[in-house]
Amino acid sequence: MFVTCSHCPQQDDVSPTKLSALRRFRACDGCGRCLTRIDVSDFSGWIDEQVRIKRSLQERGWLGSRKQSVKQSDADIDRDGLAAELAACLLLAPAWVTKWQRLAEAGVSNRGRDLLPRWTGLDKPVEVKQTRYRDDRRGFLLVRPPRWTPGEMKPEYLDDAYYVLLHSGSGNGSTSVYDLTLSGWTDRDGLLHDGVRNPVPVGNGQRECWGIHWSKLRPLDELAQRPASVWSRVIEFLTTKTQRRENR
Ligand SMILES: [Zn+2]
Repeated sequence: MFVTCSHCPQQDDVSPTKLSALRRFRACDGCGRCLTRIDVSDFSGWIDEQVRIKRSLQERGWLGSRKQSVKQSDADIDRDGLAAELAACLLLAPAWVTKWQRLAEAGVSNRGRDLLPRWTGLDKPVEVKQTRYRDDRRGFLLVRPPRWTPGEMKPEYLDDAYYVLLHSGSGNGSTSVYDLTLSGWTDRDGLLHDGVRNPVPVGNGQRECWGIHWSKLRPLDELAQRPASVWSRVIEFLTTKTQRRENR
């Protein structure tokens, strides 16, 4: 699995086993900054299987259509979304990727909390968004109202989470939907301040949305410097203590 640094020429080929030993964000061996680009095609078989299961549930009427795009099929949207969540998990909480996979397989609803605070060490959950666009006009981090809510998009539908945006395909200068770059993050305040209502046209049968252009997002290195959650500091303390005892 290839992980590429956007700040220096470093490129690593890492095994999932090596990743699982890492806590918190992946940093570049070359320059120490956060790694932002990862190829998850090693997991394409698993992703395809999840997409197949979801589609068969939809065909049996147990799952509604996402209707989030007029150009993309539901299967493509599911594949893009899963690849993006997986990439974000591998970059921000690599040790938890197996746990994330089990939750994805169980179809657990995780709006506003794709990655949990105790996985990333952050004080809030991380919500992952994805787009195939990245130019002057296109490539938005979009938030739609939760299911079963009426009417227009409202500020209270924005979760108190860190939102990250991943680009894939042509938006990442690539032909692969499994090659992804995390272009930045924002939070609820950032979305309210720099975001706009319906930055993309609302299609037939679609809900309204709130969105922020990728160019207004903040760099990942800044998120890594946020204060860690109390929970992760306790874990860190206990782990260091155990290691010290083992090293004696
Ligand atoms: Zn680097």
